[in-house]
Amino acid sequence: MPYFEPLTTNHRVTVHGRLVRCPHCNHVSRVYHLGFSALKCINCKTMVRKYDYMIGPNVKRKDLQPTYRWKGEWKSGRMSFAKTKKELLARFPESHHEMKITKEQRPGWSRPDLVLVIDRRFDRAVQVFSNKHLPDNQALKWADSSGNRSVHLFMLDGEQVDLPHRTFQLFKDFLAERHTNVDLLMHREDPGLSIYLPELDEAILQAGGTPDGCIKVNT
Ligand SMILES: [Zn+2]
Repeated sequence: MPYFEPLTTNHRVTVHGRLVRCPHCNHVSRVYHLGFSALKCINCKTMVRKYDYMIGPNVKRKDLQPTYRWKGEWKSGRMSFAKTKKELLARFPESHHEMKITKEQRPGWSRPDLVLVIDRRFDRAVQVFSNKHLPDNQALKWADSSGNRSVHLFMLDGEQVDLPHRTFQLFKDFLAERHTNVDLLMHREDPGLSIYLPELDEAILQAGGTPDGCIKVNT
């Protein structure tokens, strides 16, 4: 099976999500459900119909873990790899004492960074907070809006990192002093394409509604 195949009605998504590829720019994103009829590609901004996407395999728990392999290296620079040390040694019964043996780690999929998810009517308040209440080397940067939701990333020295709990609390206090009608305010893992929030949207889907994070197009 090729890594990506055309998305069909038979495809399902499990808990760690699944990769989809944009047919226009080949950008790959992770989605956590397929309850949409079209989604805007976050890279090229094209509105792509669901069945125009290509889909990859489900992401499994083990994909999130680092993997290991054993490397045998000779003085000449020649190398050999195996899953276990035993396997590596067995492959060279005569000369394994001449190899330098090391264990290599390959990182797994990383957990998405912690971000701020908020009712988009308060995007401006996020910017004011970022400009006036955060140190110069920190910022909250708007990343994406979908439906009534926005995602803001936390930047430290120009690099995206997890939004710290303390900063989130500071922002919460800042907002509470100014607004009382904030329906959505979350400190959570980046929900990715379409800002799908299973903790809210699963209930809405079961009730037969359309999640706010999804973009509906007329078909
Ligand atoms: Zn694209």
